[in-house]
Amino acid sequence: DQPLQRKPDWIRVKAPGSPGWAETNRIVKENRLVTVCEEAGCPNVGECWEKKHATFMIMGDTCTRACAFCNVKTGMPQALDAQEPENIAVAVAKLGLEHVVVTSVDRDDLEDGGAQHFADVIRAIRARAPATTIEILTPDFLRKPGALEIVVAARPDVFNHNLETVPSKYLKVRPGARYFHSIRLLQQVKELDPTIFTKSGIMVGLGEERNEVLQLMDDLRSAEVDFLTIGQYLQPTRKHHPVIRYVTPDEFKAYQTTAYAKGFLLVSASPLTRSSYHAGDDFARLKAA
Ligand code: SF4
Ligand code: SF4
Repeated sequence: DQPLQRKPDWIRVKAPGSPGWAETNRIVKENRLVTVCEEAGCPNVGECWEKKHATFMIMGDTCTRACAFCNVKTGMPQALDAQEPENIAVAVAKLGLEHVVVTSVDRDDLEDGGAQHFADVIRAIRARAPATTIEILTPDFLRKPGALEIVVAARPDVFNHNLETVPSKYLKVRPGARYFHSIRLLQQVKELDPTIFTKSGIMVGLGEERNEVLQLMDDLRSAEVDFLTIGQYLQPTRKHHPVIRYVTPDEFKAYQTTAYAKGFLLVSASPLTRSSYHAGDDFARLKAA
């Protein structure tokens, strides 16, 4: 076995264990919630949980897809938990979240891909925590006609769907997904309800070329996508896709400048940027502006 490549000095994270982290951990465990912070082994968990910022993962911990970068287990998922929307809403209210991010595994096994469950979660949070802004990070609903309409009708504040990487890497990194389907999904959200902000994100360091990232930005802007996140890919275990390169902080800054110049409203590009990293703070700043 090859040892995992040593991380450069600019990838340093805050260890979990602060009182804020402990409180978040308690509420998450008490409500038996699954978080992507834990499932994905996110490096920001110490910092985010201290600020009571967590990303909830709904519809179980087992995914019907097997992306090469992802630490979530693949298999035949469990039946949906009808109590889950209420449990999430209670936890959001207890944590006093200003902004919540809700994501899910892919549920290709369900007829609507889990769209109704997403809508139920959004409505339950609205009922219990009306001041909380809601960001959802959804699957691609590939071959699930009508699913997107169900989710959009529940009116999340931010609709996020990640492209994850440039199209030339899809076969290796994101098998089962289609790049232009994902672009079109984001475009359709705007067509259905232009008041919803749309967002997407990618990981870099998977072997992509800079020009491909710039083209991807143009593709997203053509679909009127508002927010963009770009972060360094980190290999969760040796079985996952290797890190091809560590992108430097200066390169991230250059991506951020270019993305703003192309018209994105919010851009987060840094080594530790994740799809949900600082999502609430950034969104609050935008609304106040
Ligand atoms: Fe959780 Fe997102 Fe923060 Fe990572 S960046 S710890 S996934 S909220
Ligand atoms: Fe992970 Fe999402 Fe891919 Fe499933 S679809 S393996 S949860 S990245």
